[in-house]
Amino acid sequence: MNPSDCRVLIVDDHPMQRLLLGRMLAALPVREVVAASGGLEALELIENGARFDLVITDLDMPGVDGMELTRRIGELPAPPPVALVSALDAQILASVGTLSRLGGRALLTILPKPVSIDALRTAVAAIPDAVASPHPRGTPSTPRADYTVDEIAAGLDAGQFVPYFEPQIELNEGHVTGFEALVRWLHPRDGVIAPGRFLPQIENTPLMARLTDAVLAGALDAQRGWRDVGLTLSLSVNLSPGVLTTLDFAACLTSAVLDRGLDPKTITFELTESNAANGSAVVLENITRLRIKGFRLSIDDFGTGYSSLQQLSELPLSELKIDRGFTARMLDDRVARAAVESSLRLAQQLGLSTCGEGIEQPELVRQLRWMGCERGQGYLFSRPIAPERVLAWLVDWPQRRGALVEEWRVALEA
Ligand code: C2E
Ligand code: MG
Ligand code: MG
Repeated sequence: MNPSDCRVLIVDDHPMQRLLLGRMLAALPVREVVAASGGLEALELIENGARFDLVITDLDMPGVDGMELTRRIGELPAPPPVALVSALDAQILASVGTLSRLGGRALLTILPKPVSIDALRTAVAAIPDAVASPHPRGTPSTPRADYTVDEIAAGLDAGQFVPYFEPQIELNEGHVTGFEALVRWLHPRDGVIAPGRFLPQIENTPLMARLTDAVLAGALDAQRGWRDVGLTLSLSVNLSPGVLTTLDFAACLTSAVLDRGLDPKTITFELTESNAANGSAVVLENITRLRIKGFRLSIDDFGTGYSSLQQLSELPLSELKIDRGFTARMLDDRVARAAVESSLRLAQQLGLSTCGEGIEQPELVRQLRWMGCERGQGYLFSRPIAPERVLAWLVDWPQRRGALVEEWRVALEA
């Protein structure tokens, strides 16, 4: 974002530190600097609608410390990025970073004490553009209302919602293991619309169940089609927790799968970490029922929620998917790398299979393999593919695979 538009909140219990940081920031082209003397005061400001593009907070403060502040900011609908300031050594900071990232998407960077003006300038420059939000200041992020619930309902009536398919690749030989179904709206006027523009509006409405039915039917038909040409490919489908509150969900789903002669063991349901960890008793009951029928269960976007080991161990999990936010950053961010490494180790210790999301570079494959990640998805392999193009993509893949595998192996063996 343009630094001269930037509003910064400084949080420190020491008046001298606040003063020093304020002076340094005044020398940068930021628009406004506000100071708070502790985590609680900062949270009050933000929760009462004050909008900041960057929060710079001391780590060690009485009451709500920098870590808790980062986590709680990360739980807000449109969290401003946080830079943690600390005198602790890099090793401890790496684990603080991991913890805070597990608590949300808020942590932008860690600034070692004493903070230099160059470090501040770099932090301001690193504020993602998304933060320069289109929302008027003071309003939390609400679903983008570019499509109304009524328009979405009409689209569902007209059968315009279909699954696209993103290949999942095992990271050793580069073979395709299956596909994740990702819903798209084939809008007659606006073209192919991604889920971020319509899912939030229907998240807690009955339309979500209808959308899920449409995606599931399309995805199961596709899997059946692949099988009919001799291809055994797994299928992953994203579920919203709302659809798991209907008591007969598992039974209906099982019939839909068995009626098509498909095998539940080849089908994985993905629940995001926060949804899975906060599920009600009915949700947990349905998840368990699905597992009993043989379906697999995956935690999607792992690392973005705040589930405890206790919550994780209570879920009948089969797989853990590492969030794109971590994998995308791990090549040049030690903290993101530590988060990925520890998540993978956790999965291995719990006996779960692993899948890395958002792979765009061969170098990332190389490192994920080295850390023991089994499978991956991402634009390096393919963007989500329209159903009618999946078979053609599968035919082409072996030719691309050889060169890619060579690329992600070379440096490892060098
Ligand atoms: P997700 O399940 O974590 O899916 C991964 C998202 O990352 C997809 O976005 C995919 O297109 C994108 N992606 C994959 N690889 C890369 C990459 O290398 N680089 C980048 N920049 N992006 C990559 P998409 O399709 O927009 O889906 C967004 C989210 O919407 C999904 O995240 C999932 O949570 C949700 N979603 C998608 N389809 C459904 C559905 O049928 N039902 C429900 N309940 N949620 C769905
Ligand atoms: Mg997913
Ligand atoms: Mg994901």
